[in-house]
Amino acid sequence: MNPVIINIAYILSSALFILGIKMLGKADTARKGNLVSSAGMLIAIVFTLFDRKILDTADAASWELLIGGLLVGTVAGLIAAKKVKMTSMPEMVALLNGFGGLASLLVGWVEFHFDGVAGIEISLFTKVSVIATILIGGLTFTGSVYAWGKLSGKISGKAKVFGGQKILNASIAIALVLVSVIFCIVNGWGAGYAVMAAAIILSLALGVFAVMPIGGGDMPVVISLLNSLSGLAASAAGFVIQNNVLIVAGCLVGASGVILTVIMCKAMNRTLYNVLFSGFGSSAQKAGDEVSGEMKAVSVDDAYYVLEAAQNVVIIPGYGMAVAQAQHAVKELGELLEKNGAQVQYAIHPVAGRMPGHMNVLLAEADVPYEQLREMADVNPIMETVDVAIVIGANDVVNPAAAQDSSSPIYGMPIIEAYKARTVFCLKRGQGAGFSGLVNKLFFMPNTRMIYGDAKTTITELVAKFKDK
Ligand code: NDP
Repeated sequence: MNPVIINIAYILSSALFILGIKMLGKADTARKGNLVSSAGMLIAIVFTLFDRKILDTADAASWELLIGGLLVGTVAGLIAAKKVKMTSMPEMVALLNGFGGLASLLVGWVEFHFDGVAGIEISLFTKVSVIATILIGGLTFTGSVYAWGKLSGKISGKAKVFGGQKILNASIAIALVLVSVIFCIVNGWGAGYAVMAAAIILSLALGVFAVMPIGGGDMPVVISLLNSLSGLAASAAGFVIQNNVLIVAGCLVGASGVILTVIMCKAMNRTLYNVLFSGFGSSAQKAGDEVSGEMKAVSVDDAYYVLEAAQNVVIIPGYGMAVAQAQHAVKELGELLEKNGAQVQYAIHPVAGRMPGHMNVLLAEADVPYEQLREMADVNPIMETVDVAIVIGANDVVNPAAAQDSSSPIYGMPIIEAYKARTVFCLKRGQGAGFSGLVNKLFFMPNTRMIYGDAKTTITELVAKFKDK
C-alpha cells in the first residue's frame, strides 16, 4: 500500500487517540471517548498489517497465528472487561500496564534476536531503542504484577521495608544503567545477547524491588506511574520497529500518565520521591498515637431526627459507597434532604475509592447534579458551618490524623475535614480499617456517631424514613 495512505491513516488514528483522551476528561463523554480511541487503535492495527505487508505475504500458518491471536485477545479482553467490578479497576489497570510492558520487552528482544539470526548489522540507534524497551518494559511488567498482587489482596498491601533496601535498589538501578551502556557498545551478537539477558533479569528484579516499599494510600500514584512507564516502553518499542503510530500512542500514554501522577502526588501533598522511597504505611513505620475513647453507635431512627433538623449537609463518599453500590440511594437521600430544606453538597476527595475520579463516576452514574460536587479545597473552609457530615464508606480520606498527628504516617496528606462538622455520621459495616490499614480517630471523636451496616441498606432505610414523614 502507498506509504502516503499509511501515514494519513496513522495521523488519523493519532488524532482519534488525542480526541478520545480529551473526551475521557468529562463523565458524560468518557464512554464515547473510549470508543473513539479504540477506533483509532483498530485503524492503526489494520494499516500496520498493510504497511508491513503482513497480509500480502502471510502463509496459512501466519494467518492461523494472526486470527488465533486476535480471537484469544478479543475474548480475554471482553470477558475481563465484563467481569471486572468497578472497585477492582486499579487491579485491572495494573495488569494491563504489566502486559503492555511485557509486550514491549518482547518486541525489543525479538528484534535483536531475529536481526542477529539474519546476520543484519544492528545499528547503535536500534541497540539504544532495544535496551530502552527492555529496561522500561521489564520493570513495568514485574512492578505492575507486584502492584496487582498488592491491590487484589493476593499479597499484603502494606509497604515492605527492610534494612539496606535503598542501597539494594540503587545498586540494581546502577547495574542496569551500566549493563545498558555495555549492551550499546559491545561488539558481536553473542556477547550482546548475554548482556541483554542480564539487562532483562535486572529490569525484572528492579520492578519488584521498586514497588515493594510502596503501599497503602500511595498505590494510586504507583499505578499511574506504571501506566506512564508502559506508554514509554511502547514508545521505545515504536522506535525499535520504526512505527510512527506506536511512538505517538506510547508518548500519549506516557505523557498523560505523568500528568496524572503529578496530579495524584499533589492531591496527596507528597513529592514523587517521597511516594517512591519513604516506605509509607510499612509496619516498620510508627503507626501514630494510640487512639483513645470509644466508637458510639446510633440507630437509623436517631440519625433521621438529626438529619431532619439539619440545614446544611455534606455527603462524603468513599470506597464503601462503591462496594455497597449505594450511589442511587445516596442521590435519593440528597434530594429528600433538599426537599426538607437543607443545603446538600458532596465532598469529593481525589483519591477516594480505588481509582482517580471513582466517586465522580459513581455519582454521575446516579445523575447527581455536577454543581453539587465540591472539591476538597472548596469544602474544607466551610466544614465548621456544616450541621451534618455523612461519611459513606470513606475512611482514609477523612482521617484527622493526617492533619493533627505529626507522628502518623499519613501526616500532611490532605483530607476532607469531616471532623469539623457539628455532627458526623459514619456509615460502615464494622471496625474495618481503610486501605492504608490505619486506625481512624474520626470514629472516636465526641461529635461522631457510627451507623453500622451496609451503606446501601442504611441509606435506603433513611430514605424510607423521609418518605414516611
Ligand atoms: P478506605 O479504603 O479508606 O475505606 C473504605 C471503608 O469503607 C472501610 O473502612 C470499610 O469499613 C467501608 N466499607 C466497605 N464496604 C462497605 C459497605 N458495603 N458499606 C459501608 N461501608 C463499607 O476508603 P477511602 O475512599 O476513604 O480511601 C481510599 C483509599 O484507597 C485511600 O487510602 C487511597 O489512597 C487508596 N487508593 C485509592 C485509589 C484511587 O485511585 N482512588 C487507588 C488505590 C488505592 P468496614 O469494613 O468496616 O465496612
